[in-house]
Amino acid sequence: MGYILVTGGAGYIGSHVVKDLLKKGYEVVVLDNLEKGHKKAILSKYFENIDLKNKEKVKEVFNKYKIDAVMHFAALSTVGESMQNPGKYYENNILGGLNILESMKDFGVKYFIFSSTAAVYGEPKIIPIPEEHSKNPTNVYGSSKLMFEEMLDWYDKLFGIKYISLRYFNAAGADIEGELGEDHRPETHLIPIVLKTALKQREYVEIYGTDYPTPDGTCIRDYIHVSDLSKAHILALEALLNGRNSEVFNLGNSKGYSVKEVIRTAEKVVGEKIPIKEAPRRPGDPVVLVASSDKVKKELQWQPDFPDLETMILSAWNWMKNHPFGYSE
Ligand code: UDP
Repeated sequence: MGYILVTGGAGYIGSHVVKDLLKKGYEVVVLDNLEKGHKKAILSKYFENIDLKNKEKVKEVFNKYKIDAVMHFAALSTVGESMQNPGKYYENNILGGLNILESMKDFGVKYFIFSSTAAVYGEPKIIPIPEEHSKNPTNVYGSSKLMFEEMLDWYDKLFGIKYISLRYFNAAGADIEGELGEDHRPETHLIPIVLKTALKQREYVEIYGTDYPTPDGTCIRDYIHVSDLSKAHILALEALLNGRNSEVFNLGNSKGYSVKEVIRTAEKVVGEKIPIKEAPRRPGDPVVLVASSDKVKKELQWQPDFPDLETMILSAWNWMKNHPFGYSE
């Protein structure tokens, strides 16, 4: 067995998956440009500091290591930013991924795990959302991921590259052993922002929109623990290595929480009130995103270990208390 190449292995989800791959005995090469990722989050001894947009450099990595499969996390993933700077999103998420696919084709690498997103669906017509739901992204981030899924389909048809595309709902929480956590710069995600406010690093949490057609007027999301996401990646990889065909799976807990419910749960975890401020809606935000995860449960025998929101927030809080400035201390 050769190496598993993990692009974005220095990032939030990628680093957790690298940890689990190493625990399972896989040899892992991390490819990351450290623009968003953190050197300290890389647990593998093999690391290549490379920008995926550099096709030649990507090729060199495939030349240097015998790669058996690729897990592709490296991408820009912020809904708000994608609406302000769409070109940057298409360039990173499409061109970067394409360079990997082209090297896979050239070097005969056959297995690919893709970090896709619930944002491919857009505003749901049915809740919970099944995989075959129509796809009409409401933001450029979702559009870039949907386009890449289409590309994967063609690389499978034409070159036999088998893929599993995992459509994440909202990743949350941190490594239960406290070794890894979430550290985005700037932070844009709800749970870390709420916890940073509890640490007094921020004055208040802005609630983006309180006039949505939901019971309390705020957006509803389906949160999933990062280690449960990671577990699904390993199952997906092993399914491909065992000859499974290309497939797409949602990953969520099939339970929606509003922004206000997330803040209330975090208050319970930290034991104090968290100041909030009502703010305008954020462009590109769907009202409700809740996954049907029946397919991944049935076909990959995936089960979450930490489906409860309070446990997710507690794990994030434990990491944040020990690393108030993320990976920089
Ligand atoms: N959100 C918010 N205030 C913030 C950050 C996020 O109200 O400071 C809302 C956001 O509009 C969305 C939900 O929280 O409805 C989750 O947003 P996040 O950015 O964490 O994840 P996304 O759903 O964009 O992947």
